[in-house]
Amino acid sequence: MKVSYDLESITPHTVANTTGEGRGNTGGVALRNFCIAIDSTMFVKTGEILRKNLENKFSVPVKYLVITHYHGDHIFGIKPFKDVCVLSSEMTSKIMLNSETKSRYQVFIKDLAKEGPIGEGIEYIVPTLLFTEKLIIQDEDLFVEIFHTGGHTAGSSFISFPHEKVVFAGDLIFENTFPYAGDPTCNPELLIEALEKMKNIKADTYVPGHGPIMKGADSLEKHINFYKDLRNIIKDAISDDLDPAKVSVPDVFGEPDEGRKNVTVNTWLNFYKNK
Ligand SMILES: [Zn+2]
Repeated sequence: MKVSYDLESITPHTVANTTGEGRGNTGGVALRNFCIAIDSTMFVKTGEILRKNLENKFSVPVKYLVITHYHGDHIFGIKPFKDVCVLSSEMTSKIMLNSETKSRYQVFIKDLAKEGPIGEGIEYIVPTLLFTEKLIIQDEDLFVEIFHTGGHTAGSSFISFPHEKVVFAGDLIFENTFPYAGDPTCNPELLIEALEKMKNIKADTYVPGHGPIMKGADSLEKHINFYKDLRNIIKDAISDDLDPAKVSVPDVFGEPDEGRKNVTVNTWLNFYKNK
């Protein structure tokens, strides 16, 4: 089985893979004496190549793996990073330790193993270093800032590297595709706030959790407007007592996947009904 997982150079100190080969996008930031990996893909093999390629590219060891949120396509490749510090928001680890998530993900991992060699060997590994609102990792004159915002999931976080104006958004951004915003812990209000916070950072480059790299803070406008429009549609649907199946979503990202659309609409309806 030949698996490739190449890293694209974004700036002298940052790289990313946005090809979808590992499902969720990943990234890397090189500080002076070590580098930081961001998310681990859905597979052990791609996680392994990610680490190898980061260390080859920057000639420094990976010291930290930052997990943006608990979804399988970002955490199932953690195994090759077991000997480094794996960190996330405290909320992400809480969700991962929850028995409901654990049993749901046991099934998920078993199903992946049936898909052939690429899905084999996954271990459910919970981060060991946790932060609440914000964490800074610094090395000499360089640092990254990690912000816990919630939104896409209650534990969702994004990473900023101010030195080169790069932001790794995790699944707070899905570029060029209808987003999955139907997690049981999704909070639409925090999702919009997180996007606005990211936009205010005024980065030159945004690496989404899925889809291609985006240039400039204005590229977030489309995403903020999409979620705000969806919020209005959902609120109207509630006051009109509309059948969830009849709710139409903004068409910014083209024709949505039906399953993804339905779970997103239902999650948002429940959220605003209970508000
Ligand atoms: Zn996700």
